[in-house]
Amino acid sequence: MALVAEIIGVGTELLLGNVANTDAQMISQGLSALGIHVYFHTVVGDNDARLRQAVEIASLRSDILITTGGLGPTYDDMTKQTLADCFGLPLERHQPTVDSIRAYFSRLGAAMSPNNERQADLPRGCIVMQNDCGTAPGCIFEANGKHIIMLPGPPHECAAMFNGCAVPYLKTLAGGCLVSHNIHIFGIGEASVEEKLRPMMLQAQNPTIAPYAKEGEVWLRVTASADTEAQAEALTRPVIDDISSQLGDAVYGIDAGSLESTLLQQLKRQGLTLAAAESCTGGLLGARLTALPGASEVFCGSVCAYTPLAKTALLDVHASLLERHGVVSAEVAEAMARGAKNRLAADLGVGITGYAGPTAENGVPVGTVYIALCDHHGQTTVKQLMLGSDRNRVRVMAVNHALNMARLSLLA
Ligand code: ATP
Repeated sequence: MALVAEIIGVGTELLLGNVANTDAQMISQGLSALGIHVYFHTVVGDNDARLRQAVEIASLRSDILITTGGLGPTYDDMTKQTLADCFGLPLERHQPTVDSIRAYFSRLGAAMSPNNERQADLPRGCIVMQNDCGTAPGCIFEANGKHIIMLPGPPHECAAMFNGCAVPYLKTLAGGCLVSHNIHIFGIGEASVEEKLRPMMLQAQNPTIAPYAKEGEVWLRVTASADTEAQAEALTRPVIDDISSQLGDAVYGIDAGSLESTLLQQLKRQGLTLAAAESCTGGLLGARLTALPGASEVFCGSVCAYTPLAKTALLDVHASLLERHGVVSAEVAEAMARGAKNRLAADLGVGITGYAGPTAENGVPVGTVYIALCDHHGQTTVKQLMLGSDRNRVRVMAVNHALNMARLSLLA
């Protein structure tokens, strides 16, 4: 039986929307990698009665309760006291923690206020998780058949403690050996992926199949548990193969990193080079490729040609073509791709032109993007896309599609 965990974020600033609940996101991702299910995220303010209520409800439906925040030295930091009360445990001062908080302050050359000692009051018998990035320790205890894990709120403290202490503890609970692989999919929406794979996903128990949407992509995480890594690995293989054959070329990789790293690998393997001409994406494609080490072996460069004049001067796009078809057109995208390929002496050229918004221009709706690919056989294909009205999303998705077109052209 898979374990179920619930994350309870404690902090009025979370409820007010002043701070995004990134701790819960980080913890959920970690739990999913361990094969531990998360059915609920709860957020409560710094209020003893409501936190108590949240803990009571969570105890009815989850095996593991993970709290974040409220471990500090101030009057509104009540998580330890409330949780200890809920499970009938007294708080006791933990001397090694007092010593390490004192040492922390003396390293900073700051005075330790008596309040700070309160941070060393911890539920009797708990496992103390030292805070290497701050002062508030976290703790773990087991009571009434539940596992309680308390983590600090500041994200870097929370992540360090979760990964350093809580994950090893949770691994012992999850038992056996877990293996996870991510299937990276581009070009099919999450709903369509689910539609195609629903029967398989509903039946899947070991391995489990969990979908999640990344920016413009879908990832499926396949997680198997077994006594050994080799056995778990063997359980995931046929499922990954089955999904890959059902989704075809839309699967761009297994644990692939990103579209750009996949494309980079393909170019390297085939000894080919790529150049780009970018208008509405303003160099984003170039930035994503050059963020990867070793890009210089296969990426010649990206011409950021924003104005019509720049397209003519830098990419040899004829003024007459611009006039006849407009800057956002299949013909101009094609000419840009050819221009980049020729000017930079690359094997493949990509051209991107579109309206990222927020206003429509020349009667062309916002989000209209044309992407052209001039491939290594000299063939040019153009794609027209409608990418919505969010400027940033239009730009990101345009780059994703351009990378994907180049990737697909190298599969043949
Ligand atoms: P400390 O007293 O060391 O600050 P704490 O455990 O008492 O730690 P809080 O006082 O509850 O933590 O929160 C400290 C800060 O951490 C908050 O102001 C907020 O910026 C950030 N924070 C708290 N909870 C979260 C969360 N769930 N996700 C992201 N950030 C958070």
